[in-house]
Amino acid sequence: MKNKITSKFIFITGGVVSSLGKGITAASIGLLLKSRGLKVINQKFDPYLNIDPGTMNPFQHGEVYVTEDGGETDLDLGHYERFTDVPVRKFNNTTAGKVYLAILDRERNGGYQGNTVQVIPHVTDEIKNRILDAARETEADVVITEVGGTVGDIESLPFIEAIRQIKYTVGHGNCIFIHLGLLPYLKECGELKTKPMQHSVKELLGFGIQPDIIMCRSEKPLTRSIRQKLGLFCNVTQEAIIENLSAKSIYEVPLKLEKEGLGNLLCKLLGYEQSEPDLADWSSMVQRFFNPERDISIALVGKYVELHDAYLSVMEALTAAGIYHNVRVKIDWIDAERITDMAAAEEILGSAAGIIVPGGFGDRGTEGMILSAKFAREKGVPYFGICLGMQIAVIEFARNVLGFADAHSTELNPATGHPVIDLMPDQQGVQLGGTLRLGVCRCLIAEGSLAEKAYKLHDIQERHRHRYEFNNLYRDQFEASSMRLAGRNPERNLVEIVELKEHRWFVGVQFHPEFASRPNRPHPLFRDFIGASLETR
Ligand code: GLN
Repeated sequence: MKNKITSKFIFITGGVVSSLGKGITAASIGLLLKSRGLKVINQKFDPYLNIDPGTMNPFQHGEVYVTEDGGETDLDLGHYERFTDVPVRKFNNTTAGKVYLAILDRERNGGYQGNTVQVIPHVTDEIKNRILDAARETEADVVITEVGGTVGDIESLPFIEAIRQIKYTVGHGNCIFIHLGLLPYLKECGELKTKPMQHSVKELLGFGIQPDIIMCRSEKPLTRSIRQKLGLFCNVTQEAIIENLSAKSIYEVPLKLEKEGLGNLLCKLLGYEQSEPDLADWSSMVQRFFNPERDISIALVGKYVELHDAYLSVMEALTAAGIYHNVRVKIDWIDAERITDMAAAEEILGSAAGIIVPGGFGDRGTEGMILSAKFAREKGVPYFGICLGMQIAVIEFARNVLGFADAHSTELNPATGHPVIDLMPDQQGVQLGGTLRLGVCRCLIAEGSLAEKAYKLHDIQERHRHRYEFNNLYRDQFEASSMRLAGRNPERNLVEIVELKEHRWFVGVQFHPEFASRPNRPHPLFRDFIGASLETR
């Protein structure tokens, strides 16, 4: 870790309304700078009081993105990794909960030496330290920080105050503020409206922050007069008004922002030389995305299907695999509870080229998932089971092939006579919160397996987030059957991959390969799953 900080800082705030795509914008900025040879790191501040989103309902918060070092983080960190291909870490997602936890711990340990502990300076200092630590730990040229929420929210005030102060810590030329807001379009008068943005910038000014760049999300291109008006009322030059039009694909956003001159503007404001970015690889990926040769339909059988964000990285990994094969992957979102028997499975899954059962917790919908795995196994339809989806494949096989009719996971039925998925002896009796296997773990891959064909490696690492495991007491029965135990964690001798020997492509993995997929570098298992599905239909 370096002591002297040489990094520059970009802070991105949001205004007018939420859900404007600040995460995509921050990720795009990372890509534009990285493609100019700069070392970047993206991070996010979330003003809520949970320590992390690990305990939140996916219906409220979308997926929990798992970092290599086992952090349970906001889904925007997934965008950062996919766009920049720079691994983020636990400490790149700071919540108000984490900030207060650190402060209260210190207070209990006498760390404040009798002083009154206050929002200013203690909370703001803790936030500032996290900004500076990100710079020290990563030695990045540019630290890009997205501040969650909308300017003016009560809970985000300490974060706004901390980023205001940081400018004075690191010096003027080393820190810039980008404010992203909405310009609503009024059909009646055929005009984009700037007033809400002006008010939002005023609010930011009220907190002592003058944005250096105003980024406008809008449905229509910005006219000259709109730019002039915004420049005049928000104290920025014309070149610092950046149009951020609604895009057909999130992958287009960095290319559109580059066209608007954002990359070089950032270099200029931060004192870096302006240069041509190398976006050739990214552009050709976007080209292929927009020009598929055909569509392919994949059934995703899950529990949170009404909120697609709950499966964001799985969706992105399927899309990336489609781009590789020059096809558009159309996801058929299937609520697992709709699959009540084999006739329903046939009717609902009959037209799918492949079936994917992603991760999940709790028993709702799991019988429908088990029927889906049975359908895939019996009909020879490619099946990809991720985490819970792997456990489901094991339960189905144990019930219908090995003849253990009541086989189950003890998470889903603690009283089962055949707990083929269970807590391992070293986890029994440990507090629930301490038993999740999180972050990267090693996996040795068996010769002659589908996984070997995909990875072309025998020793890999993948990210985990689960509590239950394949029960090693059943290993012999499975090893003597047509289900191959194709991957093993060497440290704890845990089964990580299962496959069907007599099936075109049926793979279940205890880990989450979706987090390692990149739009221009699909994960090998997703790539081969789509490849096998294309051969089916
Ligand atoms: N609920 C299962 C477990 O805890 C699977 C978790 C997951 O799919 N992420 O083991």
